[in-house]
Amino acid sequence: MPNDSIANETPVGESKKGYRRILLKLSGEALAGSEGDSKFGIDAQTLNDVCKEIAAVVESGTQVAIVVGGGNFFRGISASESGIERATADYIGMLATVMNALAIQQGLKQIGLGARVQSAIPISPVSEPYVRLRALKHLNLGRVVIFAAGTGNPYFTTDTAASLRAAEINADVLVKATKVDGVYDSDPAQNSAARRYDRVTYDEVLQKRLGVMDATAIALCRDNNLDMRVLSINEEGALTRMAQGHNIGTVISSS
Ligand code: UDP
Repeated sequence: MPNDSIANETPVGESKKGYRRILLKLSGEALAGSEGDSKFGIDAQTLNDVCKEIAAVVESGTQVAIVVGGGNFFRGISASESGIERATADYIGMLATVMNALAIQQGLKQIGLGARVQSAIPISPVSEPYVRLRALKHLNLGRVVIFAAGTGNPYFTTDTAASLRAAEINADVLVKATKVDGVYDSDPAQNSAARRYDRVTYDEVLQKRLGVMDATAIALCRDNNLDMRVLSINEEGALTRMAQGHNIGTVISSS
């Protein structure tokens, strides 16, 4: 299998301790500002802050692949409720993720990091198509790979795309970076007595409807024995400390 030698090139900067390769799921909203209208679109300062967090992880010796959402621009299911055909609305949503992916690629390049967008819907002038072995080659060369356009199929979410790509690239962990620092038994923004889980199983997440990711994404992780960590992208250095093996946020596992 000649192509396997591409995928198995000697990795750049492997972590001695902690994770060798992570798949980071960023929601579109993680790139938007936090106030008023700035929740829509891309906020330059927020983008820069997120890119610095990602760069620190790569510099600490962990390979990073990203799946980015598009909810800061468009969500298919919401648009379909106001009359746009669901499949078309979902394609619009997938294209929204491409805008975010290009912004992250640019943000990373500006701070000196190699990055490549790979889109599940081919858009040749602006991105590479998704090619698994090529993605692995980029990662092994120390580049960040940003997977855009979700799974390429309507009726899915970028959470499911994150589980799928994480399994495909043999990521050690899927990291869901949110505005909250872990999984809680109720919404901490609404309930000051909400309790944060240190560890929880995928079955518990499904049974208790903890709202971490959609059921398809959770089932894919569970069935492939892929651990997930939920942590805050707004907590400076948290992502790097996690990648280095510190116990940050909530761990979700099959058992
Ligand atoms: N989407 C899709 N198929 C996929 C991934 C995403 O149809 O495989 C569409 C869907 O309409 C979704 C939108 O893209 O609402 C944006 O993705 P998502 O809602 O997951 O973004 P996030 O909430 O993470 O920002």
